[in-house]
Amino acid sequence: MTTTAHPLVVRARRLATELLAPQAEWVDQEGVPGSHIEAVKRSGLLGVVAPVAYGGSGAPPAVLRETAEILAGACCATWFVQTQHHTPVQTLAQSELPVRERLLGPLSRGELLSGVAYAHLRAYPHVPVRVHREADGWRFDGTVPWYTGWGLNDVMMLAGMTAAGEVLFAFTEARDQPGLRASTPLRLAALTAARTVSLDLDGLWLPEEAVALRAPYAAWAPGDRARTLNAGPAVFGIAEAALSLLDEETAGPLRSRLADVRRRAYALADHPVPQERADERLAVRAEAYEMLRTATTAAVVAGGGRSMALTSRAQRLAREGLFLLVQGQTAESREAHLRALAHGEASRSAPPQ
Ligand SMILES: Cc1cc2nc3c(=O)[nH]c(=O)nc-3n(C[C@H](O)[C@H](O)[C@H](O)COP(=O)(O)OP(=O)(O)OC[C@H]3O[C@@H](n4cnc5c(N)ncnc54)[C@H](O)[C@@H]3O)c2cc1C
Repeated sequence: MTTTAHPLVVRARRLATELLAPQAEWVDQEGVPGSHIEAVKRSGLLGVVAPVAYGGSGAPPAVLRETAEILAGACCATWFVQTQHHTPVQTLAQSELPVRERLLGPLSRGELLSGVAYAHLRAYPHVPVRVHREADGWRFDGTVPWYTGWGLNDVMMLAGMTAAGEVLFAFTEARDQPGLRASTPLRLAALTAARTVSLDLDGLWLPEEAVALRAPYAAWAPGDRARTLNAGPAVFGIAEAALSLLDEETAGPLRSRLADVRRRAYALADHPVPQERADERLAVRAEAYEMLRTATTAAVVAGGGRSMALTSRAQRLAREGLFLLVQGQTAESREAHLRALAHGEASRSAPPQ
């Protein structure tokens, strides 16, 4: 079966056409409604890569990428809320700790939606969230700078560092509770609709049974680094959506260049050793951003002054493109992207002959 014919890809396309795309400008201004989350939960997409034994679909990465492109291109805020869920699912699928049996089923079947609070681990040796052993569990203190989906997701996978230099990931309910207080949702240049908050942790206590992963930072970091090297599917989804606003004379050549970068990005993503060819991955990632900028700029230009209306699709896509520039950014990827911009390398790819 081709990826395009996979039932979840078909379902994602239907969700995008019937619900997400028609309401995207409204959602951008008003916020992702609970009814969108319910529709995503019902669609089966939350279990796309989850194990079949737990009610998921166990689909290959190419299906996850294609569904992500479709959802992001239709409504980036809804895509972003639901994309957090796949990391907890993958963490539980690899865990041998008791929380797996409690949560992997409900998460795989889309009964519960999970958020994540772990990107701050990448600031190591700076430690924004510290974890200490306390009684029969763990105490969390510090600040999570970014947590998306507040008020929309049911549970969160929260990470911090122990004094012994281990990363520790544990699940808790995604709501204010003793030791955990969320800020008001942040007003941002894009994706305000995804309800991102910061979290103040002041003695949040979670029991040992809540722990999904505990590992030395040095053992965890290489796998995490590999996740930040590749161009993400949302970049291609938004770029495609922008191209759909153009006439064929303009869109045609851009579409061929986009397809070329996409093919190379996904070939690298499918390479069996995710840590290898890091420089090439980062260079292709920068090229993908350049195509995204070109496509969204063309959509704004084509729309003229009306592009500036908050009801215009072009400006929304351009702002969402800005957000994707920093999503998942690390010191390494930022440096590579700036180098590519400074030396004009991000736009070096020639159109295929
Ligand atoms: C709207 C929005 C929503 C987000 N939602 C989530 C979410 O739900 N869950 C989540 O986990 N993340 C979330 N993020 C974080 C996101 O995935 C990226 O990790 C983030 O954009 C990069 O972080 P930054 O720009 O704040 O970090 P910066 O502070 O710019 O750091 C970038 C990199 O620099 C390095 N660095 C920074 N500070 C130090 C230091 N003191 N010492 C050493 N190295 C350092 C690290 O490598 C770090 O990764 C969100 C981000 C945004 C903008």
